[in-house]
Amino acid sequence: MRIVCHCTICQRFNDAPFADVLIYDAAKVEPPADGSVAFDTYNPLPNVQRGQCAKCGKPAIEQFRAPLFPALTIVPAAVHAADAALPEPVAHIFYDTRVADVADSLPKHRGFLPSQLAFGRYLLAAKFSAKFSTR
Ligand SMILES: [Zn+2]
Repeated sequence: MRIVCHCTICQRFNDAPFADVLIYDAAKVEPPADGSVAFDTYNPLPNVQRGQCAKCGKPAIEQFRAPLFPALTIVPAAVHAADAALPEPVAHIFYDTRVADVADSLPKHRGFLPSQLAFGRYLLAAKFSAKFSTR
């Protein structure tokens, strides 16, 4: 499942107006254990571990753990192989904190709770993305 997040944390972490990310079942996609990703826990969401490339500092992978939610691994679309067949994003969330309008026909969810609920709904509908390829 691919989604575009405009929350302020994603903006800061990605140093970009929004995060275009794919969501995976944490049991299927784990971060590399070779030290190539440096992890930090960002407030105010201590359930998200955000990992950056140890070399270039770019966002690499995030691990999401929250009550009532399945454990998730979040990977920026840009981190995937250039020829990876990625799904199209399903929607924009936290659109109320956007820094720029996006001119597409995707649903745009605003506000904390509506964005969280929408995220959960899309997640269930997609039952995660099973596919992950990288080189
Ligand atoms: Zn976000």
